[in-house]
Amino acid sequence: MVDQEDLRFEIPSYAFIALARRGMEKISLDQCFLKNCDNQDPELLEPFKKEEYEDDKKQVKEIYIKCKKCKGIFILKLETLKRVAKSTKDKDEDVLSMGMVYALDEKKNNLGHIGYF
Ligand SMILES: [Zn+2]
Repeated sequence: MVDQEDLRFEIPSYAFIALARRGMEKISLDQCFLKNCDNQDPELLEPFKKEEYEDDKKQVKEIYIKCKKCKGIFILKLETLKRVAKSTKDKDEDVLSMGMVYALDEKKNNLGHIGYF
């Protein structure tokens, strides 16, 4: 049995969307990303499965979430790029350890890039 509370803990609370020239907008990941569903109640979202894998460039975590409102299942895909060697030219430039969040449907069709976490 997977501990649901542990899975919940794996999901970042917020993602950030870059707005052209206007900084970042913060959005909650406690919502259903399926079409025609407006569920934003974390009580109605049930993470139930996790898959993790990595290649030489990134680490990927996929959290399967059941929405109790539309009865659908979607996947939050969290991609973290592995640390890239720092550029020697510009030593003020910090290495970004940002990850990207995507939403997928049950059949792993991409529902879109949500943002960064
Ligand atoms: Zn839903």
